[in-house]
Amino acid sequence: MKEMQTFLKKYHEEMNWEISNESYEKTRASLLNNYMLLTTEVAEVAEELRKAFNFTHSHILNGMKDSEAFDLAKENAKEDLGKEFADCLAYMIKFANYFEIDLEESFYKKMDEVKNRKNRDVSLSRK
Ligand SMILES: [Mg+2]
Repeated sequence: MKEMQTFLKKYHEEMNWEISNESYEKTRASLLNNYMLLTTEVAEVAEELRKAFNFTHSHILNGMKDSEAFDLAKENAKEDLGKEFADCLAYMIKFANYFEIDLEESFYKKMDEVKNRKNRDVSLSRK
């Protein structure tokens, strides 16, 4: 993750896509604009899932077993979903870099916190 953060810091500098640090007003506008772009990318993940479900349903209607249709849809969606996850990750890393957050450290700390949460959701499924 550290490598990705370093890569994107340079990448955003080269592209002149850094979050502005000129003044509070410009920084605020830049953060809000980037937040808007992140949410757009999250919506694009939803769009790819919608396409995969529509693909699955049309194949089920044509007589394919649902599990086979969904496997095919997942394979078809893989490349585009990967691109959208990458877009989301790039914006999240941009925010982390702006706030000088070590994302890997935050990630593991948060996952540990969730694992040890007292009011954790209980799953009924047994694996
Ligand atoms: Mg995108």
